[in-house]
Amino acid sequence: MNALLRNRYAPKLGTLAAFAVIAWLLPYTVGGYAIHVVDIALVFALLAIGMGLAMGIAGQINLAQIAFFGVSAYATAILTTHNGLGFWPAAALALVASALIGLLVGIPALRMQSHYLGIVTLGLALGFINWTTNAEIAGGAEGISAIPVPPMFGVDLSSEYLYYYLEVVVFALALAFGLFVVRTGLGRRMMAMRDDPLAAGAVGAEIPLLRMTAFMLSSVFGGLAGVLYAGLIRYIAPDTFNIANMFLLLAMVVIGGRQSLVGCVVGAVGLTLIREKLVDHPTYAQLGFGIVVVLMVVFAPTGLAGVPARLKAVLDRRLGRTAERSVLRPFEPYEAAANVGEDAAAGEARPMLEIDGIAKQFRGLKALKDVSLTVERGEIRGIVGPNGSGKTTLFNVVSGFYRPSGGRVLVDGRVVSGSRPYRLSRLGLARTFQNLRLFGELSVRDNLLVALDRSRTYAIWRYALWPVGIWRQERRLHRRADDLLRRFGLTEFAAAAPGALPYGIQRRIEIARAMAGSPRLLLLDEPAAGLNGEEVRQLSEIVRSIRDSGVTVVLIEHNMGLVMSLCERVTVLAGGSVIAEGTPAEVVADHAVIEAYLGDSAMADMPLPNSTEVTS
Ligand code: ADP
Ligand code: MG
Repeated sequence: MNALLRNRYAPKLGTLAAFAVIAWLLPYTVGGYAIHVVDIALVFALLAIGMGLAMGIAGQINLAQIAFFGVSAYATAILTTHNGLGFWPAAALALVASALIGLLVGIPALRMQSHYLGIVTLGLALGFINWTTNAEIAGGAEGISAIPVPPMFGVDLSSEYLYYYLEVVVFALALAFGLFVVRTGLGRRMMAMRDDPLAAGAVGAEIPLLRMTAFMLSSVFGGLAGVLYAGLIRYIAPDTFNIANMFLLLAMVVIGGRQSLVGCVVGAVGLTLIREKLVDHPTYAQLGFGIVVVLMVVFAPTGLAGVPARLKAVLDRRLGRTAERSVLRPFEPYEAAANVGEDAAAGEARPMLEIDGIAKQFRGLKALKDVSLTVERGEIRGIVGPNGSGKTTLFNVVSGFYRPSGGRVLVDGRVVSGSRPYRLSRLGLARTFQNLRLFGELSVRDNLLVALDRSRTYAIWRYALWPVGIWRQERRLHRRADDLLRRFGLTEFAAAAPGALPYGIQRRIEIARAMAGSPRLLLLDEPAAGLNGEEVRQLSEIVRSIRDSGVTVVLIEHNMGLVMSLCERVTVLAGGSVIAEGTPAEVVADHAVIEAYLGDSAMADMPLPNSTEVTS
């Protein structure tokens, strides 16, 4: 065990020590101008980390980073020169100011996405630049000079050599904090949101809040950079916070690799140094950066940081080293709950799911018309119907993805229609998706960890004040992920990217992820689609075990054999209405059902069973 730990951490500690020594000795080896450039590079590195967190990790386009930077630099300048505050109190207030501006910029992100968000954040940045050049308090085009030297226990920080050490310490702490965020619950959730916001919502991520959090985090790094910049240069002017620098920053993040904080740092330091070399040819430099960015986006979207992994993949393919085919291990059944179905039998408990007159209209198309059905506690309910009959739409309404045009949904007696998906997830609802929605860039283990983590977004205060709590929670989550992986026979695939795995395994991961939240009601949308015979048999065993553990299951399925063998009752939808409901045997004998299916030639792939598999 000790040896294992040593093997795991020794190389990292070695690298860390090497970096510390290099950072310590650097000022002894470079001249006065070079140390100035290094000091600037560190400021950009902080900015790039913040930008990477918003853009690469959380997937939120953020072109306002230069404004976050400017807000805190200006706040420091104004508070020290106009208001006579000391440097450090001013710096603390400046950080708060940029965090608030970050939250403000995050508000549009609640409503819009991708390029719209890019335009809005850019607009905010432009607005800020405009303010700096015009506002009297900001000193107009001349800017603000005579910012005091930050006091530091008698160390003279007006020396750029000594200032370098302050920056290195702040930078190292900030990078460590950023990496801690990325590798723990908050970062995982942000990455899940980036990969698939709908699926992230369905496993309990509070998407709107999470977006704002991403902007706030980004702005705190921007704020830190602004404070350090103000203390370093001690003179600020609008020039620094212009669009050219915003795009330089964007280039740093894209070239370095936005999904890797270390990549962002490499991009920032690299481009700062290159820009210095090209200082006499600014136009060529900008053109060059632009071309490199375009090439990067096309040929290496993961930036320099992603190159090693891509090279390895190419090499593996060339050498014929493909991952050895691991087999899906058998599922370990859940422990049966004692009282499944008893409450319902006693006639006392409320139904688990009541759908009451639900209608859903997409423009002219009535996808659901007055659909009502009731699912009792501990039931496995089948929902069948031709393609396009509204089954998935019904799930989308129940799980909060769509707001119904009419009617109500009650889960465990509580009206939930109109609630957001994350709220439903917290009420004990989980679902899978007809067209698999796993988080593509997360490992299988991380996919499960996102869903296992039930902490609320506001609990992120612990990142700032009680990181030990986060660390402990991580250990608990990882233990539970191990259990879940083992139960679903997925241990061998823990580190794999889900997209590379066979379909049957991906389907099983989705069920495991849905079960990670310990739901009371599980909605499965065509879980057998694309599975082979043996996989369908295993699926049947899994669903039954899940029900026996006390979870109510609703199952949309085309595989009638599976429906017949699993479900106590079946509801048939056609053209957005319920046309039949009853035991599987009753339903297949129903005239309306036979007609609905025969009338839909596209359903030739869905054989009506001759009820040989009906269970007792
Ligand atoms: P099923 O799952 O039973 O195959 P769906 O619920 O996916 O059927 O679709 C029912 C009908 O609603 C289809 O005609 C489909 O085209 C339409 N529909 C589903 N989602 C949307 C949407 N987001 N916008 C417009 N039409 C939709
Ligand atoms: Mg469907």
